[in-house]
Amino acid sequence: MKSYQFREYGKHLEAIEHPEPSPEGTEVLIRVLACGACHSDVHLWEGEYDLGNERKLDARSGRELPFTLGHEISGEVVRVGPGGPDALIGNRFVVFPWIGCRACNVCDREAEHLCLRPRALGTFVDGGYSDHVLVPHPKYLFDFGNLTPELACTYACSGLTAYSAVKKVTGYHGSHIVIIGAGGVGLSALMVAKALTDYEVIVVDIRQEARDAAERAGASHVLDGSDRNAHRHIKKISGGGVCAVIDCVGSEVSANLGMRGLAKSGILVVVGLFGGALQVSLPLLPLKDLTIRGSDLGSLSEMGELMELAKAGRIDPIPIETRALDEAQRTLYDLIEGNTVGRVILKP
Ligand SMILES: [Zn+2]
Ligand SMILES: [Zn+2]
Repeated sequence: MKSYQFREYGKHLEAIEHPEPSPEGTEVLIRVLACGACHSDVHLWEGEYDLGNERKLDARSGRELPFTLGHEISGEVVRVGPGGPDALIGNRFVVFPWIGCRACNVCDREAEHLCLRPRALGTFVDGGYSDHVLVPHPKYLFDFGNLTPELACTYACSGLTAYSAVKKVTGYHGSHIVIIGAGGVGLSALMVAKALTDYEVIVVDIRQEARDAAERAGASHVLDGSDRNAHRHIKKISGGGVCAVIDCVGSEVSANLGMRGLAKSGILVVVGLFGGALQVSLPLLPLKDLTIRGSDLGSLSEMGELMELAKAGRIDPIPIETRALDEAQRTLYDLIEGNTVGRVILKP
């Protein structure tokens, strides 16, 4: 099989031929139909996250090189191990990639995506920038009904991340929420918020084309994040502040804007991993009764809930651009430059 791998962090992806793995036990071998390119692929490839104040989070441990990126995978089952059901062969699925060690307390309570010894596909174990990928158990496979493989794969990361983040703000009282960043996750969050909640959604992005995409996708309002008065506009539109901000950028500027746009008892959910640090005036937390929290990915059961909604046609599709897998490297550069709208899907 052929995979696009990097041999060293930050070095060009190379097409590397290697023997097709043979599934053992409950393992399932998938022929990849589509694999989304996610911004976190850039961080993994570079091997670090920017923590702000010139500190870096080293992201290089826990995986062997050369490594295959790609965690938004849909594909067709071609072989199953001796412990798996043959009936799966020929069926198409989207893969839940956020697999844990499957032995710890965290994994036991159905939170494998938060496991401290992750075995996640495309982030710690070889992923979908390849023509084949090995999945440890059929329970990680989800039927995608009549959806296309290109759309279905986006639910595994950007869709799931968006779903889990929106679920965390559904109980808050207010008429409006803000979503910052209208990339893959932000647009997905907009779609999920429209499906799950009655909130009017204000989408903030510094890029005109991303704001246009959000408007077409049903945002009630769009704002330019580089406008110095963006927080004033948020307050004006929402009548004093929003009950929730989902920050899909995760930069100092975006999180600050989110904090300034919140009403009393509001919540800022940081989802994006752009990098930076947030300075918070501590008295504001009690005085405004604010909550700041993060949301990382989503659970296996949330993936099931999300796929039911998606299959039922309750979540509008995000814009998708399809490219050949051999454009993986160019795609990483485009993600760094911010030259993509919606999701880029690679096809082997
Ligand atoms: Zn991702
Ligand atoms: Zn675990």
